[in-house]
Amino acid sequence: MGAKTGAEYIGRLDSQPREVWIHGERVEGQISEHPAFRGVIRSMARLYDMQHDPALRDEMTYEENGQRYGLSWMIPRTREDLERRGRMMRRWAKASFGMMGRTSDYLNVAIMAMAQASAYFAGNDPRYAENIRNYYEYAREQDLTLTHTLISPQVNRAVSASQQKDPYIVARVVDKNARGVVIRGARLLATQGPIADEILVFPSTVLRGGPEDAPYSFAFAIPSSTPGLRYICRESFDYGRSHFDHPLASRFEEMDAVVVFDDVLVPWDRVFLLEDAERCNNLHAATHAVVHMAYQVLHKNIAKAEFLLGLAESIVDAIGIGQFQHVQEKVAEIILALETMKAFLRASEADAELDEYGVMTPAWAPLNAARNLFPKTYPRLVEIIQQLGASGLMAIPTEADVQSPIRGDIEKYLQGRNIGAIERLKLFRLAWDTALSSFGNRQVLYERFFFGDPVRMYGALYQSYDKSRAVARVREFLAQEE
Ligand SMILES: Cc1cc2nc3c(=O)[nH]c(=O)nc-3n(C[C@H](O)[C@H](O)[C@H](O)COP(=O)(O)OP(=O)(O)OC[C@H]3O[C@@H](n4cnc5c(N)ncnc54)[C@H](O)[C@@H]3O)c2cc1C
Repeated sequence: MGAKTGAEYIGRLDSQPREVWIHGERVEGQISEHPAFRGVIRSMARLYDMQHDPALRDEMTYEENGQRYGLSWMIPRTREDLERRGRMMRRWAKASFGMMGRTSDYLNVAIMAMAQASAYFAGNDPRYAENIRNYYEYAREQDLTLTHTLISPQVNRAVSASQQKDPYIVARVVDKNARGVVIRGARLLATQGPIADEILVFPSTVLRGGPEDAPYSFAFAIPSSTPGLRYICRESFDYGRSHFDHPLASRFEEMDAVVVFDDVLVPWDRVFLLEDAERCNNLHAATHAVVHMAYQVLHKNIAKAEFLLGLAESIVDAIGIGQFQHVQEKVAEIILALETMKAFLRASEADAELDEYGVMTPAWAPLNAARNLFPKTYPRLVEIIQQLGASGLMAIPTEADVQSPIRGDIEKYLQGRNIGAIERLKLFRLAWDTALSSFGNRQVLYERFFFGDPVRMYGALYQSYDKSRAVARVREFLAQEE
């Protein structure tokens, strides 16, 4: 099959019913028509349609053995391959201004990297190496949409998974039989879980298990429609309002869900690691999956920072505040954020090298710096939108008001310096959906946490960064007599 279309994405979702709970009800019928998922599913479909747009086909896909595949499945062998894959990532990221963090490229590149590093999985069991290679081929062929879940439920963080009151709170192995491994317990959180074809149940990059955590240590992939697998959604932030009223939430509300495993059978051919805590701890780093994921994230960050720059400057222009020095400084802060992210990206490409598995791999240091910086940057950029928009972010009547008898008031009092009231209203509603709505606030939380706990990520950066040359320089200086 290869690169799929939007219609194929929707058709597959609807033909594979999964257990999704939202607002106290189980989703019945076609998930693509459910009000909580309709908007984002259409946005996802548009991304897949780009793969078949004659003007974009070569940018979004590559050819192998007469078949076209989505470019994020490609194994990059050269820097040109990396940059080509990057252009595809940027186009997808720009389509949602980076508000959809989980476009499929995020996990496609992880599976690609893991399959090339299959020897790592063989260290646990030779069959697992074959499983991850086969899974890559299958996922690429089907152009699967993947979600993942890494983190255990937030019950008691003072103790490990095995020390919780109930040993089956955190998802764990409960049985093994001829057909596969049976999993019971829960994981959080799966962004896009309900609208993905399959879920990767992988170890966290920051939660380290010990030998006693063997039953909690695994990596596997199963279809979202697997019996016993249940997604429990949070409240949807797509309230069914128009694009005028909720310009972002009505399009890009990705949804996050808790994942429950009610004695879920994972077939043996879908197991990639099992009961090997140490290998699980190192999975993302040793296979370099985290590097390719962080590279995709950086494209998303650039798209997002560029959007916030455009938004801020549009506000400045609309209400005539560009002459104030602190306003210029605030917009300049966004420019700095954008240019910093772009520089990290260039550095990661310029210093890319072939890894031990023959994959052209971006340099980790700039990507690691970027992924640690952006969780602090993004909340500040949103704060700048609040500071510049001020009360304008609350003077935002809805589309219904525009259609009502008070339209005259709106046209008179909500016009901008050089734009009409409707245009200004659309702009400020966009700013509100970015900086104040439940959708906008979820974006801030997402950026703070989605790659892991920022506190422990900083710790990991500190511990893993080679500081010896810097320290040696200081020591040399101190040893100088003159
Ligand atoms: C919007 C959103 C979407 C997400 N999507 C996904 C997804 O698709 N897939 C997925 O797997 N995960 C996802 N996550 C989860 C994400 O990986 C976690 O939020 C992150 O790893 C932090 O874990 P936690 O939320 O359990 O926080 P906790 O670990 O419970 O931390 C809570 C607080 O306690 C502190 N703390 C806890 N333990 C320690 C410790 N040992 N040392 C120091 N401080 C500690 C933390 O610093 C933090 O301040 C998502 C999160 C968000 C917010």
